[in-house]
Amino acid sequence: LSVIESAEPDIKAFLRVCPDDALAQADAFDARRAAGDVEGLPELAGVPIAIKDMIVTKGIETTAASKILKGWIPPYDATVITKIKAAGMPILGKTNLDEFAQGSSTEHSAFQTTHNPWNTDCVPGGSGGGSASAVAAFEAPLALGTDTGGSIRQPGALTGTVGVKPTYGAVSRFGAIAMASSLDQIGPVSRTVLDSALLQEVIGGYDRRDSTSIPMDVPHLADAAREGARMDLHGLRVGLLKELGGEGFQPGVEKRFNESVDLLRGMGAEVVEVSCPHLPYSLGAYYIIMPSEVSSNLARYDGMRYGLRVMPPEGVPQTAANMMSYTREAGFGDEVKRRIILGTYALSAGYYDAWYGSAQKVRTLIIRDFAAAFEKVDVLVSPTSPTTAFRFGAKMDDPLAMYMNDVATIPANLAGIPAMSVPAGLSDDGLPVGFQFLAPQKHDEALYRPAAALE
Ligand code: GLN
Repeated sequence: LSVIESAEPDIKAFLRVCPDDALAQADAFDARRAAGDVEGLPELAGVPIAIKDMIVTKGIETTAASKILKGWIPPYDATVITKIKAAGMPILGKTNLDEFAQGSSTEHSAFQTTHNPWNTDCVPGGSGGGSASAVAAFEAPLALGTDTGGSIRQPGALTGTVGVKPTYGAVSRFGAIAMASSLDQIGPVSRTVLDSALLQEVIGGYDRRDSTSIPMDVPHLADAAREGARMDLHGLRVGLLKELGGEGFQPGVEKRFNESVDLLRGMGAEVVEVSCPHLPYSLGAYYIIMPSEVSSNLARYDGMRYGLRVMPPEGVPQTAANMMSYTREAGFGDEVKRRIILGTYALSAGYYDAWYGSAQKVRTLIIRDFAAAFEKVDVLVSPTSPTTAFRFGAKMDDPLAMYMNDVATIPANLAGIPAMSVPAGLSDDGLPVGFQFLAPQKHDEALYRPAAALE
């Protein structure tokens, strides 16, 4: 809490800090430990954690960094929060993000701008820039994020932290505010691979309250990380993704990436080049599917049920429809409105097959590409982000340039496979570079072994 107090004026990672709750939870854990009542508690018991404000917390305001949810105090906990509390982990507070997790720089937050601890003139990435910066600035040892197209991994890369998007369905989404439901996944942010493994073991597992939850046991992730730390990768087949490199990737990023590949080779891994020919279409498919789901999910913010309500001004008929329009006009930011409009268009009668239908077909081709690649190799690798952290404002007027930052992270969400970003040193500009591992669906443990070897 004292580190948060000294770092926050420069970093602004937190939308709200909850010192009283955190201290009460820490005291409760201490009392349990003093009484010897710690049987069955995970290794992370007592370790504090920061939570992205996209995840609902009972009794603690949850806003998704949107004016439309300002003041909303959830009456329930997300499943991951219930599990974190049961593990004896104090919750430090809620971290900043792009509004409704839509963005790659955290600049689209309705409330504040989060700074990158490596260079406070630069963005921390997004949408989970708050969680990543909190961990990078030593304000929290661990954090939770949500990843729909890279929002855990890309900020991880830009802040030199570890970020994991688990297999779709491996961690319950109950209580994660929905952005694009077929892509969203909650996951860990940490400073070491082992910490993420321990955290994913706490939050993972089947949940009957999430209809897309996979009924399977959590794999032994910490064991895989500990094995990887021995730095012996003989027998591991690594595939270099041909399509995720070259044009558009900063030379400094590629240099560090290639050096990391050499390190994997040096530890005994067999490295081959692999092609997934449909990957170049991922970004296009994502920017049809994601806004379509956004337009549907965000229809619930109508001024009736949660947060903000704006009544029409005098002279305008005081109808429910007008109230909804005025509320949504005032409550949503530009980027969210842009996506609602794009998605509504893509789903309209007459356009549905041409846009949404085609994008879903591309998605299937990408799933098949990955399945074919994983017949040949155990893990796939790429740079996490084509660039290091960029300056504030650099991409705010150019949505397409902002979207390009996600080219390497989006394919894993489309395919539902697990992926992780680990720090791979600093680029020529002195800023962190991220190295991405991708593994077959339901084999999250396959990420942890080589990632722990590399870090
Ligand atoms: N940056 C991507 C987007 O803007 C990913 C967002 C996310 O993963 N939540 O959609």
